[in-house]
Amino acid sequence: MKLEDISRVAIIGAGTMGAGISLCMAQADYPVLLYDIRQEQIDAAFRRIRNSHEVLIQEGLLTRDRAEAALDIIRGTTSLKEALTDAQFVLEAAPEVLELKHKLFSEMESICGPEVAIATNTSGLGVTAIASVCRHPERVGGMHWVNPPELVPLVEVIRGEKTSQETLALIRDLADRLGKMPVMVQKDVPGFALNRLQFAVFREALYLVETGVVSPEDVDRTMRCGVGFRYPWLGPLQTADLGGLDIFYSVASYLFEALSRATIPPASFKGLIDGGKLGIKTGEGFYKYEAGSRDEILRKRDLYFIRQWKLIQEVGKQ
Ligand code: NAD
Repeated sequence: MKLEDISRVAIIGAGTMGAGISLCMAQADYPVLLYDIRQEQIDAAFRRIRNSHEVLIQEGLLTRDRAEAALDIIRGTTSLKEALTDAQFVLEAAPEVLELKHKLFSEMESICGPEVAIATNTSGLGVTAIASVCRHPERVGGMHWVNPPELVPLVEVIRGEKTSQETLALIRDLADRLGKMPVMVQKDVPGFALNRLQFAVFREALYLVETGVVSPEDVDRTMRCGVGFRYPWLGPLQTADLGGLDIFYSVASYLFEALSRATIPPASFKGLIDGGKLGIKTGEGFYKYEAGSRDEILRKRDLYFIRQWKLIQEVGKQ
């Protein structure tokens, strides 16, 4: 299967990720069959897509005509057979439960022809583990999007133990065609690349707060105004190149020893969860959130992401 052979895609699971990924596919002119076991999730996905369109239109990234045309080619269904019939590419974005994904992959294989490529958006179950129930594991690869998928450019393309080169190349080419920035993850390791980097920082952030070195607000400020300020432009390795590898080596020689090596999350973090402080969805996490502020905070987040993406593209053209 090659990119030019794809004329229709199926998205399995119409939750947070399935909705945004459907939007990206349709904007690239791929007709989408969006499958979910619950009709109300499909209805909610269409509402989310319309809301995202409004933000993109407002920011000049999409015209109303293009948005309407994209919506016209997304169809929801609660029939797996209907979703998969005539699809050459399938993206699975169902809940992160291995038994559920196993059942789904077995069912999908009984409907799809062996040439159809199936990608999983799993965050951490592993492509190899998910594909272990498949008769054709070579056509199964990882396509790991980042939330919100319609705004974040990165897509990780993951090679499971049995994924074929053809499947990997297809997922990468599709990500390119959707205007995303794919990264090839050559080994099916826990957390792939993105979450390993994200959680290395998160572990140290928790450690700094737990040991009273800095407040949660100042951890975030240090990232946003210092370390993270550079990251849209320079990754950690190029930062080291520009700073001088001898300096970075010398700091690493004494600092690695002092960094957190915790193998379980700290007690203070567990305490927040046990106390029902789950973040914005319960009104409190590391910060407190006013009732009714959620939509506005998420709207602002999306605006920042869009503006950052526009700036990166603008500078890239210079
Ligand atoms: P979600 O809970 O928002 O959506 C899952 C959807 O799947 C729901 O609409 C549910 O009704 C539906 N569903 C349940 N059983 C199903 C079945 N048997 N067949 C088809 N659909 C079924 O979840 P999400 O956040 O969209 O995550 C989906 C996948 O993407 C997970 O594997 C998750 O780990 C991964 N992922 C999530 C994020 C994130 O930030 N949310 C980021 C990257 C990857």
